[in-house]
Parts: sequence; C-alpha cells; structure tokens
Amino acid sequence: MSDKEALLIIDYTNDFVADDGTLTLGKPAQACEPKILELANQFYAADQFVILPTDVHRKGDQYHPETKLFPPHNQRNTWGRELFGELKPWYQEHQKNENVWLMDKTRYSSFVGTDLDLRLRERNVKTLHLVGVSSDICVLHTTISAYNLGYHVIIHENSVASFTDANQAFALNHMKTALGAEIVK
Ligand code: ZN
Repeated sequence: MSDKEALLIIDYTNDFVADDGTLTLGKPAQACEPKILELANQFYAADQFVILPTDVHRKGDQYHPETKLFPPHNQRNTWGRELFGELKPWYQEHQKNENVWLMDKTRYSSFVGTDLDLRLRERNVKTLHLVGVSSDICVLHTTISAYNLGYHVIIHENSVASFTDANQAFALNHMKTALGAEIVK
C-alpha cells in the first residue's frame, strides 16, 4: 500500500470562528474558510483522508484544566460546537465516505486521548496537512504530538489562524524550526 496523506481540519467551529462564538478568533479565522474548503475538496477528490478533530467539553466540567483558562466553549450538542460556515454542509454531504470523519478530542493535541494515531497507522498515512485554529494552541500541540510520533507535517499558513499576530508568527516559526514542519501557502 502506498503512503497516504491526511488533511486535519482542527477546531473549525462556531465558538472558535464565528463573530458570536464564545472563544472566537474572529476575522483571521473566518478568512481561512475558502482555502480550507478548497483543500477539503482537493483531498476528497484525490481519495485521501479528511479528518476533523473537534474539541468537545462538558458543561461546567470542574475537572477539566481548560475550565480555569478559558470561557466555556465547544460544549456537546451546542451551536458553538457546530462546524463553521460552509464546512458544516460540506461535512454533512461527505461524511458517509469512509475517508472523511469528525472526531472528538478533549485536549489541545488531536492525538491525546484519541485513537487518531492508530487510525492513521492502519491507513499507512505518513504525512499530515494541518489547517484550522488556533495555530498557537491546538494546531501547535497536534504538531508536537505528530513530531514525536514521526509524522511529516505540512502547515498551510493561509489556512491556520491565531488570536494575535505575534502568536501566529511564533507558532509558525516554532513549528518550522523546532518541529520540522513544512510551511506552505
Ligand atoms: Zn477546549
């Protein structure tokens, strides 16, 4: 079986992207939408994998470390956790295909507490393309895990966003220089 590639669309939900999301990055995140959809269509058409690792929280979870750090966000079965904009109908249309799936995650890294690494290895996926939000938190932590697990990571810089320009610059530089990620437009 030849090596496969996967597109990971990370946390592209209303709470992180929409103007009225509870933990929104706003315009920089919204600006990623056309490119993310273009990549999703491209990967789908090429018979590669499109995976949507999506933060999920329980209401008032006193044991979760993020409860002390951030306002409530991405609670299960809320509008805030729904995929933002055109990605929602895209996923609804394509989710029956076995190459496309949305997965819960409860930590920044898409690999922590999930079966992502097992599913990628089963499919002989060696290269991960990362898009979504935020560059300096969930995308960064997913890249750290991927680096430690030996994946080749490609960051699409026009399809990832941060809360601040400084954080965006730091995250891209760190992923490139310390984690060996390839940064592409
Ligand atoms: Zn969270």
